[in-house]
Amino acid sequence: MPLTYVAWSATSTGAVRAVNEDSVLVSRSLFAVADGMGGHAAGDIASRLAVDRLAPLGRAERVEVGALLTVLEGANHDITRSAAARGLSGMGTTVTGAAVVEVGGRPHWLIFNIGDSRVYDVKDDRLIQVTVDHSEVQELVDTGQITRQEARSHPLRHVVTRALGSPAPPVPDTWLLPMSPAQTLVLCSDGLTADLTDDDIAAVVSAAAPTLATCADDLVSAAERAGGSDNISVIVLHTSSARTGKDDTRPHPRVVEPSP
Ligand code: MN
Repeated sequence: MPLTYVAWSATSTGAVRAVNEDSVLVSRSLFAVADGMGGHAAGDIASRLAVDRLAPLGRAERVEVGALLTVLEGANHDITRSAAARGLSGMGTTVTGAAVVEVGGRPHWLIFNIGDSRVYDVKDDRLIQVTVDHSEVQELVDTGQITRQEARSHPLRHVVTRALGSPAPPVPDTWLLPMSPAQTLVLCSDGLTADLTDDDIAAVVSAAAPTLATCADDLVSAAERAGGSDNISVIVLHTSSARTGKDDTRPHPRVVEPSP
């Protein structure tokens, strides 16, 4: 049975920040969220440079893994060069995403991450975090010094330990998920998870099922209502079986452009 996938996205400045330093990429085969840091005219440039570097790869039907890694190195270079040209320090961005890749002749999602934006897999109305945050608080959680709940309000919660814009290109973590029917992935910047718990997010996704057409907007609205303390960006990806009348196992994308 051929697979089809569809993507929806939404992004918001939130209720507190003056500018939206997040950038979102929704394309044919590559989906990414980047959360810029370094303040206005630094963070928003950094996240934009990252998604601009990624965008050409996403025009193809499939993403080559090697090309993705090369492009992430290129984005790191673009950002460090731009920061130097502007005399800025602390300019950088997270980037997390999902790329359609082919492994053993079958489509897979290649999940990649640098920083503390996240990819979740929604299974049976529960959220499974695929990515692992590169952050000070994650290290404290990993070593048992604080709980996951305490990490949510810890003073170091915004400090990332890996980002694009570093002197040495950061190594992304990667995960490979076979593409299967009725799969739902949520990509988000930390503005979503700052004001909503995993259970809150799962409840909004469940309420938007089965079509999920409003899910990205609903998630951003819920985070805004819960305080909107940071920029909020969300991409929702959903796969389903599609009868195309062709004996074709290739995924057929349908892309919905980001909401303003
Ligand atoms: Mn953020």
